[in-house]
Amino acid sequence: MAERYTWQQTVWRKLSQKQLLRGHAILLQGRQGIGKYDFARYWAKSRLCDSPTAIQEACGACLSCRWFESDAHPNFRTIVPEALTDDIVTEASIDGDKSGQAAQKKNAGRQISIDQIRRLDSFIYLSGHQRNDKIVILYPAEAMNTAAANALLKKLEEPPEEVLIILVTHQPQRLLPTIRSRCQPIAMPMPNRESAAAWLRQHAVERPEPVLAAAGFAPLVALRMAQTGQVAQYVQLMQQLAQPKRLNPLTLADGLQPIGLPVVVDWLQKWCYDLISYRTCGRIRYSPDEAAAIRAVSKRLDIDGCIRFVRELHQKRRLSQHPLNSRLFIEELLITYQALIEP
Ligand SMILES: [Zn+2]
Repeated sequence: MAERYTWQQTVWRKLSQKQLLRGHAILLQGRQGIGKYDFARYWAKSRLCDSPTAIQEACGACLSCRWFESDAHPNFRTIVPEALTDDIVTEASIDGDKSGQAAQKKNAGRQISIDQIRRLDSFIYLSGHQRNDKIVILYPAEAMNTAAANALLKKLEEPPEEVLIILVTHQPQRLLPTIRSRCQPIAMPMPNRESAAAWLRQHAVERPEPVLAAAGFAPLVALRMAQTGQVAQYVQLMQQLAQPKRLNPLTLADGLQPIGLPVVVDWLQKWCYDLISYRTCGRIRYSPDEAAAIRAVSKRLDIDGCIRFVRELHQKRRLSQHPLNSRLFIEELLITYQALIEP
């Protein structure tokens, strides 16, 4: 999708005035699920448009816009991990929710490879269509492996005049410093809660506030949760975690496995964060609907153990991208969680 969201108006105004751009490589950075990738496409479409509007938006009607909309623009390339090219790429789906064999296959292609970067050569260095710019979007940029990043570095050092490379990242700290230093960083804004909730209501989410909280206030993640039935799964997990002694790790792990490890680890992290946060400063961030349960459970919480557990979960989130026995993995996490709550 090529879209500019309401919370991106200021950054749009800045970027649509080309004089604010320095160089030929831009790094759009910010939280996952706030629409950076859609914005990058919207921006590319506008720059390629043959007759943009007064505020530099794409007209939607010219030949260039039609090419863009049918994914056939000769002056535009998108580089995404191969595992994502057969999915609809959205910022909310990047963590994946695949399971079993499909997950193993997908995991192999989660990186951006050196071959994908090399294939850009003919596009970047040979002449393009008419007088237009040539634009490349790399997403998510942190998915480049080291060889791919080094190959890209060469292109960033001496880019042809008419080429614009847009890197989009949730985790700029995972990029090579030499890549970062050659890009102009642009911080992409988080929407405030009111505008995110209003946007979700426009997309038929009736009670957006708890969904938004569950999604860590990233509206695109919240919309995906609402559209895929994940909200019900999230609520169910929170209710089970609210009764730690009655929870059966084996059965629950079985039920959670299809949701996918990265998502389950993320949800568990959010629940534990709320327990710690309520106990230390009386605030609940991610599960406002479970306030009563959080109050009760946090009283019986081994708080130091829980802080260690959250740290551990943070490290495991990286591991959780790799194929392993996910049911066993989740079961172990649940057993550790149970031990943190006194009877
Ligand atoms: Zn146009």
